[in-house]
Amino acid sequence: MQYKRQRPRRRTPGGMRTNLEEGDMHLIEEHLYLGNIVAAQDPEALKEHNISYILSVFDDELSVKCDSLTYMQIRVYDMYDEDLLTHLPEAIEFIDSALGSGKGVLVHCHMGYSRSATVVIGYLMSKTKQPYEPVYDMVRAKRLIGPNKGFRNQLSVFAEMGFTLNAKNRKLRQFMVETLLTSDTFWKKWENKVDAYFARLELIESMTGELDMGAGYVCHKCGHKLFNEIHVQRSTASEEDEWVGIDSDTLSDGKESCGYLYIEPQKWMTGLLGVTADDGPGLIKCPDCAQELIEYNDMFDPFTACYCLSHKNLFKCRRFRVADNKIKIESQNELKLD
Ligand SMILES: [Zn+2]
Ligand SMILES: [Zn+2]
Repeated sequence: MQYKRQRPRRRTPGGMRTNLEEGDMHLIEEHLYLGNIVAAQDPEALKEHNISYILSVFDDELSVKCDSLTYMQIRVYDMYDEDLLTHLPEAIEFIDSALGSGKGVLVHCHMGYSRSATVVIGYLMSKTKQPYEPVYDMVRAKRLIGPNKGFRNQLSVFAEMGFTLNAKNRKLRQFMVETLLTSDTFWKKWENKVDAYFARLELIESMTGELDMGAGYVCHKCGHKLFNEIHVQRSTASEEDEWVGIDSDTLSDGKESCGYLYIEPQKWMTGLLGVTADDGPGLIKCPDCAQELIEYNDMFDPFTACYCLSHKNLFKCRRFRVADNKIKIESQNELKLD
């Protein structure tokens, strides 16, 4: 097949050039290659390195594909608030099955710099049970890489969870609301993302053994079941907001609670949302008694920025809130989140 060979523009943060050899792909470990889009579309080079599996980590299409190769794709942009985290287990499985077959596998994105490097580092972290830094150093010694800050945080969360996805992990749940559903970049697509969010969350919940959803919350007026404790977003103890790098202590106004619960979106809300972009908070009524229950906001603005002690380091993921006098607890099961 004929194709035009195009070299992607080489760039490093600050436009710095380095002395590291910038090839299209580099061998990171036996049979495991990290490279750019040129490498992924170079049949000769792939053959030469005995590569039979290609993992594409970008939002584009390969214009050259070979029938004899096995492909997998994770569609993400190279942005800090894109979700790579929840794709890591399937990526690891793909790389494992490739390496198990004794063939080579190429993990690539456009530059082989951020997205694909994140996946390769995540793979090696999970295999060696090591934290980010030493694995980054090892890969960096072989290729010029630079996972973006959001991806680095995602790898840390992945390591904290023991390299599996655990639906009981507060950070993971916050991350999912923040990235899959309410990312600032794509807030206009909010309605289109709801289904994907719930599908992804259900997948992870099904992977988590014995998931206790905690106490149920019901409408104060009519007793209609609304959500569970696991859906309530609370600040994790004494931690800064790593996602946005803000020192939460200086932001906290010292109040224990503001009288609201911030909650994850619920499936039953889907039909009740009419996204308001500029007109301030929307309102969701109780499906049973039509009491106005939940306020929501599609944009990041002061409405969602609460600095009470319960919410101070939940920065970007708070979009839905309910005043605590509009709900009551249905049962008193203890729930301990990680
Ligand atoms: Zn608050
Ligand atoms: Zn009600």
